[in-house]
Amino acid sequence: MTDLRVRNIVIVGGGTAGWMTAAAMSKLLRDDAIQIRLIESDAIATVGVGEATIPHILYFNRLLGLDENDFMRRTNATFKAGIEFVDWGRKGDSYIHPFGPYGFNMEAVHFHHFWLRYKHLGKAAPLDQYSLMVRAARARKFQRPDYERPNSPLSKISYAFQFDAGLYARYLRDIAEAAGVTRTEGTIVHVAQNGESGHVQSLTLASGETVGGDLFIDCTGFRGLLIEKTLRSGFIDWSHWLPCDRAVARACERAPDLLPYTRATAKSAGWQWRIPLQSRTGNGHVYCSDFLSDDAALDSLNRDLDGAAISEPNLLRFKAGVRRKPWSKNVVAIGLASGFLEPLESTSIHLIQSAIARLMDNFPDKSFNQPDIDYYNRRTVTEYEQVRDFIILHYKATERSDSAFWNHCRTMDIPNTLADRIAIFKENARLYRHDDELFNEVSWLAVMHGQHITPQRYHPVADILPEAELDRRMREIEQVTARALDSMPDHLSFIERNGLNVA
Ligand code: FAD
Repeated sequence: MTDLRVRNIVIVGGGTAGWMTAAAMSKLLRDDAIQIRLIESDAIATVGVGEATIPHILYFNRLLGLDENDFMRRTNATFKAGIEFVDWGRKGDSYIHPFGPYGFNMEAVHFHHFWLRYKHLGKAAPLDQYSLMVRAARARKFQRPDYERPNSPLSKISYAFQFDAGLYARYLRDIAEAAGVTRTEGTIVHVAQNGESGHVQSLTLASGETVGGDLFIDCTGFRGLLIEKTLRSGFIDWSHWLPCDRAVARACERAPDLLPYTRATAKSAGWQWRIPLQSRTGNGHVYCSDFLSDDAALDSLNRDLDGAAISEPNLLRFKAGVRRKPWSKNVVAIGLASGFLEPLESTSIHLIQSAIARLMDNFPDKSFNQPDIDYYNRRTVTEYEQVRDFIILHYKATERSDSAFWNHCRTMDIPNTLADRIAIFKENARLYRHDDELFNEVSWLAVMHGQHITPQRYHPVADILPEAELDRRMREIEQVTARALDSMPDHLSFIERNGLNVA
């Protein structure tokens, strides 16, 4: 029988995507017969942004066996409890999308249905009062979950990190190289394909060296050197729904306190991020070039920095969408080479991680079975569509009419999948999580409620509880949340007390 095993894997690109892939593959494919090589070019910079994450990164770090405290010190990381959205639904608004639940689900029904009933009775406190993560973020408090107290909201704490992506890639490189990944520095100047199958056969570097392989992972960022420039796999363009196409990023000195969350502030033609790290604050202005010039975007960013600038502005251009075939022939694109959704919900690093997991599930042999590839591509595009809908919601669910950009977003058509979801929520507050989509009901609720989508009714089961019992439970949830909050330390002191700070 012919030996079809993949022996030579070539990862092209040494940004976050390349090194995450190299570290994970070196951990999961522990076979001396498999060679993993990563090629990166000093002459072609990485994108240089990507500092905010979502809780799933904990699983990735655990898979690699990283010690979380060591990881935090090495990447100047802070903890992240959620994202604050400022000025999105209306100017003057602020809400937090938390990484943790509101209240407790009761009678197998989501908490917010009971809260809506309580609100109709005129008795409910604002929804945020029932969320430990929102209240802790506002109070700048943080701790890891306390599983010793399973009935306390402290056991439901969920968190992510804000970190220096360059240092993270460097950290993963050390791990990958220690596990046997070979790194080659050089710029690829030629890609050779098999005359019959069209598969990529080898890459030629500027030095003249030629590197062959069985499986190629394209992590070349927006360039898509193999997946698009070579294999023309096509792009599904979503810029009509997500019209922001540029960003300017700039770091400033760190503020004295350390917020345990990322902030996204809506501006006249886009939004600005503020990401607090231990060593600096990352900032960036994402905007639509049809409505704002590069100079005006930078001016706005500079005005809003809350510390002295410590880096030059980094201007980036992009288009929202996904490759039609993120896996084509013997090339799998991971990271920006496979698609891009703006960083409003910090999803790109997660999409890298989930692409790696999907590739490992569908790991090929040299026959490159087309149905497996088709399945991988369908799942990838669906995953992007689901995240896309969630991001579009932030733009669509606005009452802002103070700029041409917001008038466009408020009145634009949206995908049917999103329109259906909004219509159902408006009618009876129901929220669904389709198969294993990334954002759960808590996330959808946070944004819909935060941006003033008000349901007419709620789940009928919420009416089953006698009013006195509802009173008792709602009061208890509020009190338990307040007690848990009181016991939590300040975010900065938690970092210092646990020795997580950079020396
Ligand atoms: P890149 O960083 O662009 O790396 C490309 C690599 O390919 C480089 O090493 C380069 O040398 C190499 N290369 C290219 N061409 C060649 C060649 N010919 N020969 C050899 N090597 C080559 N994600 C988040 O999760 N959270 C965020 O907060 C976030 N913010 C973002 C903000 C903006 C404005 C943008 C644009 C993205 C953001 N992202 C964020 C996304 C995140 O930055 C990327 O997903 C992540 O950095 C991965 O990038 P990459 O490795 O795919 O590409």
